[in-house]
Amino acid sequence: MTVGIWVLGDQLWQQQSAIASCHSNKADTPIILIESLSHAKERQYHQQKLVLIWSAMRHFAEELRADGWCVTYETAESFEEPLKKWIEANGIAELRVMEPADRPFAAFLNGLNLGLNLPCALVQTPNNHFLWSTQAFKEWATSRKSLLMESFYREGRRRFDLLMNGKKPVGDQWNFDKDNRRPPKGKISPPQPLLFAPDEITQAVIETVKAADYKTFGDCDEFGWAVTRDQALAVLNNFVSDRLPTFGPYQDAMVTGENTMWHALLSPYLNIGLLQPMEVIEAAVQAYKKDNALPLNSVEGFIRQILGWREYMRGIYNHVDTDYPSRNHFQHTQPLPDFFWTGETNMNCLHQTIDTIKRSGYAHHIQRLMILANFSLIAGLSPQSVEDWFHAAFIDAYDWVMQTNVIGMGLFADGGLLATKPYAASANYVNKMSDYCKGCEYDKKARTGDRACPFNFFYWDFLDRHRESLSAQGRMSFILKNLDRMSEEEIVEIRQKAEDWRENH
Ligand SMILES: Cc1cc2nc3c(=O)[nH]c(=O)nc-3n(C[C@H](O)[C@H](O)[C@H](O)COP(=O)(O)OP(=O)(O)OC[C@H]3O[C@@H](n4cnc5c(N)ncnc54)[C@H](O)[C@@H]3O)c2cc1C
Ligand code: SF4
Repeated sequence: MTVGIWVLGDQLWQQQSAIASCHSNKADTPIILIESLSHAKERQYHQQKLVLIWSAMRHFAEELRADGWCVTYETAESFEEPLKKWIEANGIAELRVMEPADRPFAAFLNGLNLGLNLPCALVQTPNNHFLWSTQAFKEWATSRKSLLMESFYREGRRRFDLLMNGKKPVGDQWNFDKDNRRPPKGKISPPQPLLFAPDEITQAVIETVKAADYKTFGDCDEFGWAVTRDQALAVLNNFVSDRLPTFGPYQDAMVTGENTMWHALLSPYLNIGLLQPMEVIEAAVQAYKKDNALPLNSVEGFIRQILGWREYMRGIYNHVDTDYPSRNHFQHTQPLPDFFWTGETNMNCLHQTIDTIKRSGYAHHIQRLMILANFSLIAGLSPQSVEDWFHAAFIDAYDWVMQTNVIGMGLFADGGLLATKPYAASANYVNKMSDYCKGCEYDKKARTGDRACPFNFFYWDFLDRHRESLSAQGRMSFILKNLDRMSEEEIVEIRQKAEDWRENH
C-alpha cells in the first residue's frame, strides 16, 4: 500500500508526526506541498507572511529532497486539483496529514472530496507541534473549576520538570513578573535583530507577492526573516546570548524606533514548525544552568511565555465552543477605522505601532495588547473586524493563537473566560511604559477639551458605558470608584467626545 504525505505550510519539521511515521520508508513515500492561491485570497494576509510561508515551504521541500524523500511541490489555484492528480499518479491508498492546528482548516480537510478514481483513505496523525496534547489539556481543564493561566503554567513546570528543585520552583517563586515591568527611562539600547538577506528562492517569492493581483497588507521590501530551520536556530541562539539577559526587565516597555526591544522574535518560526517549543525552552534552561549571572526573572519570564501562555492559548482554543470567534460580550459594533490600514493617525502610539507593522508584520506583545487591542476595546470596535485586521497584519497570525489572544485576552469579548479583567488603560499607562506621548499632538493628561487624548476619553467612556457589567469583576471595583468621583458635567463631556469621535470615523 502506498502512503502519501501532504505537508501543510505550518508543519515544516522533519519530525512532525506524519513525516516521522514514514521515516523508515523515505524512498517509497511521496510527499506533496501545495501553495494554493485561492487559500491566500480567502482573507487578507501581510506580504511578509506570504513570503515567509512560501519561501519556508520551498526551502523545506529542498531539505526533504536532500534527505532522500520524493517530493512534489505545486503552485496552484486550489489544493484539490494538484492533490487529485498526485494521488492518482502515485496510486496512493492512504493520504497522511498531521492534524491541522487551525479549526477552519481541519473542517476543510474533513470535508475534502477529491472525486478520486481510486480508494484513498485520509489518515490524520496527532499534531506534535505543542507540548500539551488536546486530550491532556482537556483532562486538566475538566478537572478544575478555574482555568487560570497561572495554575496551568505551574502544572506545566511540574509536568515537564522545568526550573524545579524537587517539588519547589527554582528561586522559591513561581513567577517573577513584578521585576519585569521596568519603564523605559534613560538611554535604552536593545540589540539589533538578526536578519537574513533573501536568497534566490526568497527573492523569487518576493517578486511573486509584490506582483499579486489580490489584496494583501503591508509590504515585503525589507524582508529579513529566517526561512530555514538552520536560520531559525541561529535566531534562537542569538536570542539566548544577546537578548535573554535583559528580556525580563523591559518586557512591557515601548520605545520609538526600537521595534523589537529584547523580545525573542521566535513566534513566526514556532508557529510553522521551524522551531519546537521544548528546544526553545531547553535553550533558555541550559543557558541558565551554565551562566550563574543570567537573571532568573528573565529566564522564568521567557519560559512562562512559551510553556505558559502559548500552550494555554492553544489549549483554550481547542477547549472552547465553536461560537467563540463570534463572541461580543460588550456588544461593540464600531467599524474598524481606516487608520488601522494606513497608519495615518495623529495618535502617535498607534501611528508608530501600525507603521512598524506595515513594514515588518511584527509588533511586540505590549504594543499588541496595550496599544492596539486596548484602543479597540475602549473605543468599542467590533471584535470580529479587529480580529480580521490582526489576522491580516501579523506575520505570526494563525486562527489558534489569534482567537484567544484577540477575542479573549485583548478585547474581553468572551466575557472573562480567559482574563480576570479587561486590559483597559488610559494614556497614563502608555505614558508610563513608552516615550510615545512626548511626540504626540494630544495631551496625555487631558480627558476633555480640544487636545484630549482619545485613550483618556474612551477609557472613561468605556467604564461609564459598561459600569454595571464591570462591577461584577471584583478587580475593577477600585477603578470604578474613581469614576464615581467624577462630576456629572465631566462625564457628559467625555461621553460627547467619544460619541463625536465614533461618528467621524
Ligand atoms: C491582541 C494580541 C494578538 C496576538 N496575536 C498573536 C499571533 O497572531 N500570533 C502569535 O504567535 N502570538 C500572538 N500574540 C501573542 C504575543 O504577543 C506574540 O506571540 C509575541 O509578541 C511574538 O513575539 P516574540 O516572538 O518576540 O515574543 P516574546 O515576547 O519574546 O515571547 C516569546 C514567545 O512566547 C510566546 N507567547 C508569548 N505570549 C503569547 C501569547 N499570549 N500567546 C501565544 N504565544 C505567546 C510566543 O511564541 C513568543 O514567541 C498576540 C497577543 C495579543 C495581546
Ligand atoms: S497622548 Fe494619547 S494618543 Fe498620544 S501617544 Fe499618548 S496615549 Fe497615544
